[in-house]
Amino acid sequence: MVSRVVFGSGSFDQLGEILEPLRAGSQGTVVFLMDDVFEDKPLHGRVPALGQDLFILISAKEEPKTQQVDTLVARISAHSSDNPVAIVGIGGGTLLDLAKAVAIMINNKGSAADFQGWDLVRHKAVYHIGIPTLSGTGAEVSRTTVLLGPERKLGINSDHTPFDQVVLDPDLAIGVPKDQWFYTGMDCYIHCVESLNGGYINTFSKSYGEMALKLCEEVFLTDLDPEESREKLMMASWHGGMSIAYSQVGVAHALSYGLSYVMGTPHGLGNCLVFRHLEDFYPEGVRIFEQMRKKQGIALPQNVTRSCSESDFKTMTEVAYSMEPLWENALGEDWQSKISLDQIREIFTKI
Ligand code: NAD
Ligand code: ZN
Repeated sequence: MVSRVVFGSGSFDQLGEILEPLRAGSQGTVVFLMDDVFEDKPLHGRVPALGQDLFILISAKEEPKTQQVDTLVARISAHSSDNPVAIVGIGGGTLLDLAKAVAIMINNKGSAADFQGWDLVRHKAVYHIGIPTLSGTGAEVSRTTVLLGPERKLGINSDHTPFDQVVLDPDLAIGVPKDQWFYTGMDCYIHCVESLNGGYINTFSKSYGEMALKLCEEVFLTDLDPEESREKLMMASWHGGMSIAYSQVGVAHALSYGLSYVMGTPHGLGNCLVFRHLEDFYPEGVRIFEQMRKKQGIALPQNVTRSCSESDFKTMTEVAYSMEPLWENALGEDWQSKISLDQIREIFTKI
């Protein structure tokens, strides 16, 4: 679990104070990884960077890659012979995952691709701090960092992955474009539906999932004032992340991984595109999703897979089918008798 958390409007300004004891008595610097969407924004000027600190702006247009993590680690090592005292990630799921992966890889030799999987990380990560600016993925609380590697899109799942400190400042999400707010918010809603309807569910996960689901319904189906809405979605993301950390996602994520592997579709949007066609698996979840989509006036892209070739469909179907734990969670141990490659392909053609 994340050991330290601060929450509240304006809490970003506590970052300098949070870093002080880490800097004390050390030559090490702090590395800030920030979404480049903030390049010309006031938040940029509020980052408490000192003399030798390394400040790197990163585009979130593409989701994190193992190669990108390796390049960042090489750059950080070249910057100073001392290990950094902290890695701070500021942004959505993309920047949070990059910060987690970089913090791990500074203390573990090899390529990030060698650590994709479960519990392969030997050495403790550098102290890492996550500051979300977009709510929904749960990356701020999860024990994984999802990376696209040379062979697969898979997380570095380990006890060293979770952040040591998270700063939850709902004001940082002011100005997120509405579509993006909805897509990433729905990642959280879908995490809850998949977790709560899966066979891996237990009371621990259920309590978090139910809380997150309730918060999502308030945010997307009622008329909250913007400040309350940002605060509630931030806490929904946290609880949704906790829920899947101790259970598993399901059919939507399996299909969305396949879609994004071939089409490069961003995670939140990909989930929305597939989820609306999953009424056979999550009837109540899909019904409420449609209510939320209509209430928020979001029109999802159409005919996304129209130009896909036969081999594209084959690859996306196979990638989706290979996500065994997700299918097992959703459909049970005999999942192979309940879903076929043809059925998966059929769903992809509807998108
Ligand atoms: P993102 O970080 O990719 O950002 C999406 C877009 O929103 C980008 O253009 C970004 O610049 C912009 N943005 C972010 N904050 C903004 C702000 N405050 N104002 C204006 N624009 C802003 O989006 P995401 O949906 O948060 O993250 C997706 C990533 O998270 C994927 O790589 C996915 O694999 C990963 N993920 C990780 C976990 C985990 O547990 N580690 C879980 C789910 C998803
Ligand atoms: Zn997700």
